[in-house]
Amino acid sequence: MNIGRYKQRLIELEASLSSRMARDVKSGREQLIDTAADAGDASVADEAESEDFTEAQLDATILQQVQDALQRIEKGTYGQCLIDGGPIDPKRLDAVPWTPYCIRHQKLLVAASRPKPTL
Ligand SMILES: [Zn+2]
Repeated sequence: MNIGRYKQRLIELEASLSSRMARDVKSGREQLIDTAADAGDASVADEAESEDFTEAQLDATILQQVQDALQRIEKGTYGQCLIDGGPIDPKRLDAVPWTPYCIRHQKLLVAASRPKPTL
């Protein structure tokens, strides 16, 4: 497996996510002030703000995973599932280079994090 290729992509992702997050938080604040001043409507400003901040939160989550993946490259455990240590499909790494889980455990985790149906 060509780790260097993934490392390069992860480093680029880290840089672009960091700069986009800084911009999003800033534009979120500016939008809030502009919209509130123009419309005199706090609820519109609230909506604009929460959309931007949700996107920033998603970026923050991915950024954290990208940084974790870079640490795994340093430790020599990149490409191994965090749960069973098994190899992660290279096709999966091509699509989601920061993923810490093989497809089987990713599916199990997603299923486990869904709210349980109540009877
Ligand atoms: Zn696994």
